[in-house]
Amino acid sequence: MSRLVVISNRVAQPRETRAGGLAAAMRAALKEAGGLWFGWSGKLVAEGERTLHRESAGAIDYALLDLTREEYDAYYLGFSNRTLWPLLHFQPTVMQYSRAQYAGYRAVNQLFAQKVAPLLRDDDHVWVHDYHLIPLAAELRSLGVGARIGFFLHIPLPPPELLVTLPCHLDLMATMGAYDLVGVQVKDDASALFRYFLGVLGTSRSGDVVELGGRQTRIAAFPISIDTAEVARQSQSVLGNAAIRKLRASLADRKLAIGVDRLDYSKGLPRRFAAFGRFLAEHREWRSRVSFLQIAPPSRQEVPEYRELRSRLERSAGATNGRYAEPDWVPIRYVNRSFAQATLAGFYRIAQLALVTPLRDGMNLVAKEFVAAQSPDDPGALVLSCFAGAALELPQAIIINPYDPERMVEGIEQGLTMPRNERRERWAAMFEHLLVRDINAWRREFLAALEGD
Ligand code: UDP
Repeated sequence: MSRLVVISNRVAQPRETRAGGLAAAMRAALKEAGGLWFGWSGKLVAEGERTLHRESAGAIDYALLDLTREEYDAYYLGFSNRTLWPLLHFQPTVMQYSRAQYAGYRAVNQLFAQKVAPLLRDDDHVWVHDYHLIPLAAELRSLGVGARIGFFLHIPLPPPELLVTLPCHLDLMATMGAYDLVGVQVKDDASALFRYFLGVLGTSRSGDVVELGGRQTRIAAFPISIDTAEVARQSQSVLGNAAIRKLRASLADRKLAIGVDRLDYSKGLPRRFAAFGRFLAEHREWRSRVSFLQIAPPSRQEVPEYRELRSRLERSAGATNGRYAEPDWVPIRYVNRSFAQATLAGFYRIAQLALVTPLRDGMNLVAKEFVAAQSPDDPGALVLSCFAGAALELPQAIIINPYDPERMVEGIEQGLTMPRNERRERWAAMFEHLLVRDINAWRREFLAALEGD
């Protein structure tokens, strides 16, 4: 078995115990074959103080590189998160572009390649993650790296008609041809990429392989997933914990609707808050009978669009609460902090409804975690956006279009009033699917494809 090298912007460091499902899956993959995990150290330092931190934990070696403030601003805050993130989430009107930031992004990818190349062997399998590192393989190839290199894009990929609004699309997208395998979340993303390669870059296609500059690149969908059995186990084992008991007690027999999202404009939170307010306006019978808990840990607060979203949601929740609250009931509980995944599993379990209504999402793991955490006997209902990758795998959810306010209100009502038998049937089909299509199946399939199977 070849050694595995994982390269990602953020690395779940050896002592990090609160790492999520993806980090656990990468660790499992690295342990199986022995391996190296390379990425940003999370530290910002002056140019002269840059260090490549080396550390080993069991079968896994870590190599973590410091960045300077300027590199971080251009590569991470700038091109990755103000250009690629909005565009790849189908929001070109939010996209901000500057040549200097793109140059900074390319420079950090080149720097990563220079630092990791000496650590690579030709029989390694290299797995690069996400939009921060699209040009990495091209940089590695130019340094003579011959190993098999795969890339997985965790976020969506819009059709070529949108991609071409990116001023540097030709330069950036052509670098994808340096990978042996490009994995995306769903088949629509794969077809968008094929259309781009064929229609814009003028490559030829044979089956699921495109050819660019003499190199063959396979493009395929690998829908990411969760550790289904583990989330199901956790959701029961944490029920006695103080956080879960306190939440349950605070509900006083009212139903609980839950949303869990990083505070990000792709998650559709303003429309969700508005839909819940409208639901209470149109369905007086539900006032005082359901509480909506939105957990929204702030992210990327250095980016202005994220700060604006935060204050907009505070105003929206405040307005709905001001209109409908009673001395013993607040309709929207808006909580701006993060929780451990096990605690979330307990929150999901005591909720009757989840609202997962992104405007666009590569997959959305919260939707899958909610399903995994339900009680088989009396499961909650899932309201899920048709624009989340997860909707393709979970058609038994209540599928809504987040741009359709009436449908959102209908979805909330349908979920809160759905008969138990119907909830059980829908849930069982989703849970069965997730038990088979879990995070371990995902990583094994990607790695088998990277090996050329
Ligand atoms: N999450 C968490 N604590 C929180 C909020 C979220 O651990 O307070 C986890 C959540 O359980 C899920 C992940 O963060 O595994 C979010 O993944 P998702 O695909 O839903 O959205 P993303 O944030 O990647 O856009």
